[in-house]
Amino acid sequence: MGIKQVGIVGAGQMGNGIAHVFAVAGYEVLMTDVSSEALSSAMALIDRNLDRQVSRKIISAEDRAAAFARIKTTKTLADLGQTDLVIEAATEREMVKQAIFQDLLPHLKPTTILTSNTSSISITRLASRTDRPEKFMGFHFMNPVPIMQLVELIRGIATDQETFTTCLEVVERLGKTAATAEDFPGFIVNRILMPMINEAIYTLYEGVGSVKSIDTSLKLGANHPMGPLELADFIGLDTCLAIMNVLHEGLADTKYRPCPLLTKYVEAGWLGRKSKRGFYDYRGEHPVPTR
Ligand code: NAD
Repeated sequence: MGIKQVGIVGAGQMGNGIAHVFAVAGYEVLMTDVSSEALSSAMALIDRNLDRQVSRKIISAEDRAAAFARIKTTKTLADLGQTDLVIEAATEREMVKQAIFQDLLPHLKPTTILTSNTSSISITRLASRTDRPEKFMGFHFMNPVPIMQLVELIRGIATDQETFTTCLEVVERLGKTAATAEDFPGFIVNRILMPMINEAIYTLYEGVGSVKSIDTSLKLGANHPMGPLELADFIGLDTCLAIMNVLHEGLADTKYRPCPLLTKYVEAGWLGRKSKRGFYDYRGEHPVPTR
């Protein structure tokens, strides 16, 4: 099936990056959000990120202008009804996502493929509440979308082969690399990454190392580009906690229990970079460890 027009629901951190890469690859993009502010800041951010790609000679000035012109925004979810592929990238709450699909379904073409960028919610369960579980998949981008190469493609139990093949072709046209994951909690990346981050927090909690020594150990001792605590702050500690809870509940194994120190940081509202404080304090010129 040929995909020409792509609808994106949610213009946050992920939605703007997804719109960016689709437009650069030549797709017509229609992005929606409940917040007009989110839509205008997403467009401003895409503008700046495209400029950066031109200055780094990743794209030409003409391609940049054409890509930006391919992105349209709307506050009306129903406008996405005529698109060929919808990627839902709204807030990570199942009720929010289900309400979006329910409102969108009556307006969709029968052929439209529905996908979700969820990091942790069951694709099979989201699909089962729609009229097209066979045309429903997980389309999981990594943050920041224009830079990260991987897209996890997650099949629900009912996803058909044509839908999967179409999404795989889309990933290739985006110039990214797909990894296929079955629909179990955390899929592949978060199933492996989050327990490592959680273990780093336990290492801090038990006093085995300081923030600095833990991050230095993994950067210089395992060649990771970022330390696990620095990475946790980048992802958002609330997101890390939510994913650990999904792994803990969904896999019913105590090895996934979230570290109490992670819970305490989230309770304090110290969510990492986005709130200017997490395992590091970002309010000054340089990040300073908070423990
Ligand atoms: P975000 O909070 O930055 O953005 C979410 C956006 O959704 C907001 O602009 C909000 O206004 C909008 N929204 C909320 N309800 C809506 C509705 N009913 N209709 C339309 N828009 C609505 O969140 P994010 O980090 O961009 O995450 C979005 C999705 O991507 C989540 O499912 C998350 O799990 C997933 N994800 C996030 C990351 C990450 O590192 N942040 C990585 C991979 C996947």
